[in-house]
Amino acid sequence: MKLGRFLLDGQSRLGLVLTDKIVPVPDEIAGDMATLISRWDQLRPRLDELARRPAGATPLAAAKLLAPIARPGKILAIGLNYADHIAEAGLQRPEQQLWFSKQLNTVHPPYEPVLIPKSSNKVDYEVELVVVIGKRGKYIARERAAEHVFGYCIGNDVSVRDWQLATSQWVLGKSFDTHGPFGPCITTADEIGDPHRLAIRCLVNGETRQSSNTKNLVFNVWDQIAHLSQAMTLEPGDIIYTGTPGGVGWAMNPQRVLQPGDVVRCEIEELGAIENKFMAE
Ligand code: ZN
Repeated sequence: MKLGRFLLDGQSRLGLVLTDKIVPVPDEIAGDMATLISRWDQLRPRLDELARRPAGATPLAAAKLLAPIARPGKILAIGLNYADHIAEAGLQRPEQQLWFSKQLNTVHPPYEPVLIPKSSNKVDYEVELVVVIGKRGKYIARERAAEHVFGYCIGNDVSVRDWQLATSQWVLGKSFDTHGPFGPCITTADEIGDPHRLAIRCLVNGETRQSSNTKNLVFNVWDQIAHLSQAMTLEPGDIIYTGTPGGVGWAMNPQRVLQPGDVVRCEIEELGAIENKFMAE
């Protein structure tokens, strides 16, 4: 099943995505995505029923999609997690998982313009598989990690490279306003099964810059959930950016940063695509 958020008559609504249309989820089923995720086992039959009898659908092409979760409880992101990206950064494969977080102000719709800020013009793209946590958990065993995943999205971990690399902490460079577009919707985990077999690509103005497969993750999704949950309780609606493959603009020779007007398209097999134009703030 695919679930998203969209604007309908000026209001944000939950939606069930069916091939080429999006159907509003009645408020009496769930008013927000966090509720839908945390009560999924009880609510799923009602969503199945809605899928059988969709009412009030909007064509997907005409829908104004919003970020699938308005305010994720946490936005965690792992760095240096594809071998080719580690090599292009001139670094060694880390022995420990390297975590940072993106702040809530980065949450942004999958098809709306992203800002090149006044304070930097060194803006870069990073296509990533994004995991949405479904079940609360602490000290989650690797073997049970899949039970805690609600679904998957595509994210662009937009990065302001001069700010990111000015200090040893990356949080500021990864947390500029609008710099975490994700979506286009959440594809539930049962549709995907093993997430470590999906083609992943990023194109800038139609030119392929990143092209890999999630099988190349250094620390896979289960490793990541097991490790994070040693430190913190993972909650329904938390999201995890799982790392980007090689091909970022900062590592090209010569370096290429995003310019106003550039269109960045991020694609993952079976999850669809997000596409954001970059604009001067
Ligand atoms: Zn990243």
